[in-house]
Amino acid sequence: MTHKQRITVVRGDGIGPGIMDASLQILEAGGAQFEVETVEMGEKVFLRGNTSGIEDDAWESLKRTGVLYKAPITTPQGGGYKSINVTLRKTLGLYANVRPTRSYHPFVRTKHPKVDLVIVRENEEDLYAGIEHRQTSEVYQTLKLITRPGSERIVRYAFEYARRNNRKKVTCFTKDNIMKMTDGLFHKVFDEIALEYPEIDTEHMIIDIGAARAATRPEQFDVIVMPNLYGDVVSDITAELTGSVGLAGSANVGEKVSMFEAIHGSAPDIAGLGIANPSGLLMAGVMMLVHMGQTEAAERVHNAWLLTIEDGIHTKDIFQLENSTTLVNTEKFVRAVIERLGDFPKKLAPVSYAHGVTLPKAQPANIVPLGAHQKELVGVDLFLDWQTIEGRNPDILGEELQKVASGDLELVMITNRGQKVWPHGHPDTFCTDHWRCRFQSKGEGSLPGKAIAHEAIVQLLKNVSEAGFDFIKIENLYRFDGQPGFSLGQGQ
Ligand code: NAD
Repeated sequence: MTHKQRITVVRGDGIGPGIMDASLQILEAGGAQFEVETVEMGEKVFLRGNTSGIEDDAWESLKRTGVLYKAPITTPQGGGYKSINVTLRKTLGLYANVRPTRSYHPFVRTKHPKVDLVIVRENEEDLYAGIEHRQTSEVYQTLKLITRPGSERIVRYAFEYARRNNRKKVTCFTKDNIMKMTDGLFHKVFDEIALEYPEIDTEHMIIDIGAARAATRPEQFDVIVMPNLYGDVVSDITAELTGSVGLAGSANVGEKVSMFEAIHGSAPDIAGLGIANPSGLLMAGVMMLVHMGQTEAAERVHNAWLLTIEDGIHTKDIFQLENSTTLVNTEKFVRAVIERLGDFPKKLAPVSYAHGVTLPKAQPANIVPLGAHQKELVGVDLFLDWQTIEGRNPDILGEELQKVASGDLELVMITNRGQKVWPHGHPDTFCTDHWRCRFQSKGEGSLPGKAIAHEAIVQLLKNVSEAGFDFIKIENLYRFDGQPGFSLGQGQ
């Protein structure tokens, strides 16, 4: 008897249970070999008072199986409920989000008949760290964290995906013309890793033009790799272009656990009607089978599904009189796919997973070793909540702060929302109550001089506090291997 791999299944909320049952039925009829451990996550768990939405038995099941097949979950309205997806991705290190998008012209109506692209989205970093603060009456901030190990492994994942799937080009989207350090690092890592894959074409686009092109000329892309937030937005845009959010599945790959799900939500507006399209979750199931090495079953299911779409047997979300032949509910769609198992599409290109085409395995992050870089403290950006009854005059702030600078530190610049307002600010610049005041060791020109000790900053904070200023945060300024590790902050 063959040993069946176990998978953890979450049936989800809204349309979730219906499309999960439908997908499991098709996968099993297609020859998939797995044993299901069903666990609960989501609305019911939240409403039992567990604010993470995930209970211990679910974590234990995931540890046992390493594979999560998840239907969409409803996040209850109101505060206090965490996103289950963000919790799963971060806790389990599901760093690579892979979203293939393909158009099924002329069988599903789309303005973009030739789309066949894959978005590889970094899944753990960027603005999703959730480190947010209110710092003054007027100003809130969130931290954007981009790391070298995180960027390296997602970019390498994208190139490995391209190589294994015979894709010709990998494009990188960033906004490194503005975020020169964070997005700049992502772009730099992309250029470095591209050298290891000489057979693959590469290009970089600024996210604004990249997203515009993805929305208007998606056929010019093959694989696109992006930091988290851009990937979140652009992957929904490209999925929508091909006709319905109900058609696309995604994989979230980690070292020990991988998760497979549809890209859409729990569609409460059609829950219980039995009309939801199970295709997105089914396509995620196909990716899951490929991941598990069950390529024959994956291929059989995928081709039968393509033929069903080609035969015009469509659920309501993609039904169009000119392209469809039969309007079906979820149950009849399942029957139609199962009847076609073993057959191939005649007009759409059939898929083949026989030659080891697969989702690359997750790789451990490369840690930068201790002492790899020479790091020197050369100053501090001191953030103040400041205004007086006379107003917000940066020249007065500059004058007061120059008096508190001590030792080797001197005040070199004040910015407001990143725009330099002292010295020599422009009188028309709008100033909030949030000021970034740069103190650095005395050097030549605008660059800092010699390294300082932490004590210099402690002394500065003491002086600032005694002078009655409300400092809300500090950010130390470091030189790494002789190069400034901070933006020069001229409000460019
Ligand atoms: P949604 O994706 O559920 O629905 C958007 C629209 O698409 C609706 O009109 C819906 O009827 C339609 N639609 C979605 N999937 C469909 C399918 N398979 N077949 C036919 N039509 C389909 O987005 P929403 O309404 O913004 O979110 C509803 C809930 O889902 C929210 O609680 C949200 O937090 C949650 N959500 C969960 C996930 C997830 O678990 N991965 C992802 C997104 C949203």
